[in-house]
Amino acid sequence: MSIVAIVGRPNVGKSTFFNRLIQRREAIVDAVSGVTRDRHYGKSDWNGKKFSLIDTGGYVKGSDDIFEAEIDKQVELAIDEADAIIFMVDVETGVTGMDEDVAKLLRKSQKPVFLAVNKVDSATRVNDALEFYALGFENQYNLSSISGSGTGDLLDDLVKVLPEAPDKEEDELPRFAVVGRPNAGKSSFINALIGEDRYIVTDVAGTTRDSMDTKYNRFGFEFNLVDTAGIRKKSKVKEDLEFYSVMRSVRAIEHCDVVVLVFDATRGFDGQVQNIFWLAHRNNKGIVILANKWDLVEKDNHSVKDFEKYVREQCEPFVDVPIVFISALTKQRIYKAIETAVEVYENRTKKVKTSVLNEVMLPIIQAYPPPQHKGKYVKIKFCTQLPTPYPSFVFFANLPQYVKDPYKRFLENKLRENFDFTGAPVTVYIRKK
Ligand code: GDP
Ligand code: GDP
Repeated sequence: MSIVAIVGRPNVGKSTFFNRLIQRREAIVDAVSGVTRDRHYGKSDWNGKKFSLIDTGGYVKGSDDIFEAEIDKQVELAIDEADAIIFMVDVETGVTGMDEDVAKLLRKSQKPVFLAVNKVDSATRVNDALEFYALGFENQYNLSSISGSGTGDLLDDLVKVLPEAPDKEEDELPRFAVVGRPNAGKSSFINALIGEDRYIVTDVAGTTRDSMDTKYNRFGFEFNLVDTAGIRKKSKVKEDLEFYSVMRSVRAIEHCDVVVLVFDATRGFDGQVQNIFWLAHRNNKGIVILANKWDLVEKDNHSVKDFEKYVREQCEPFVDVPIVFISALTKQRIYKAIETAVEVYENRTKKVKTSVLNEVMLPIIQAYPPPQHKGKYVKIKFCTQLPTPYPSFVFFANLPQYVKDPYKRFLENKLRENFDFTGAPVTVYIRKK
């Protein structure tokens, strides 16, 4: 999926615009050197073309100097990462020095830039907007983020420059994305598996690549290992490492089948790791958690159990996820990790025959039917698995609206108990028969 970044000074209306466009908001909280910044990304589509939108807002408050440096960084990040950039300015303030600086940086880049002159709420402001042509962009769009006027014209042109999503090839290999925070040990893990330092080999100066794929064969199973660690090593924007790597993870997660989430067991399953975990979950991916650097953890008889319990508590209610304790350094259990990822892949693509499904589930439902609602009985007579890329099941009922979430969770748990979907998402729908 393409990435579109919105850049511009504070208060020009970036988040207003962002919120208008996105359907689902994902918070990326970025804690660097004690300063917490909120940045957001979300999904949007226009004329059937889907894209991820990044709001690069959330600036560090401080002197103007810091301010400007910060905005420069955001712009560099956008130039590196985005397929197209929306540069937002504010007609109320007119062209400012900071706008000119940003414009200079953007004009030097090869990326398509769409100048959005915001807060053009009335006809008189259309005239005021003319001064922004001085910034030197061909594509200028007058709009009002609050009312939405003019946004359609911008989006019409924007989606035209976004690359077409490649058609998924029939024989495309399963994709396992290795994600996690910086220094969790992602590259060590991949290098331990493939036994060489590929960064030196494949490092092509001046190119930005998403992530690196390594075709990998193990246990007679062939798949692509997607490495999200490689590129950020040459980022010029060191302070943005965290955000950078999260963005990279976001893309890799969206395009994979199984997320291999590596975290540093000496640091814990913290908020940033949890963000990635939920992102994977919301995207309906398979998940394997790798507690890495286990060689550094002092162990007694309870360690694994206690640690596992602690991690699962952070994952609630999605606790049916495998956790493997590994050391990328000593290679302890690294093949077990891959084997587990393969199992999760198989669980996620598992298809249960309708006859078997009904044979197992109907007696369970009969023994423990949905609770009565307003004196009415809910009857579930039949269920089947849907042909989706991840397990989802539909249960047909006479009064589907009376089946509430706790009962759906009960059905999910019974499906998990009986068919083993460990590491895979399971979605339950109740429909009118
Ligand atoms: P950001 O800092 O660039 O993300 O800016 P915000 O989205 O927070 O907006 C800053 C202020 O501008 C808020 O008070 C908004 O209500 C206001 N604003 C945003 N878009 C418009 C617009 O199209 N017209 C007007 N009049 N005000 C707007
Ligand atoms: P990445 O940023 O997630 O790719 O992390 P790296 O693979 O670059 O690892 C970060 C640091 O942690 C390096 O100094 C590694 O040597 C170290 N490291 C990685 N895995 C392990 C491990 O299992 N045990 C120990 N002791 N150190 C590790």
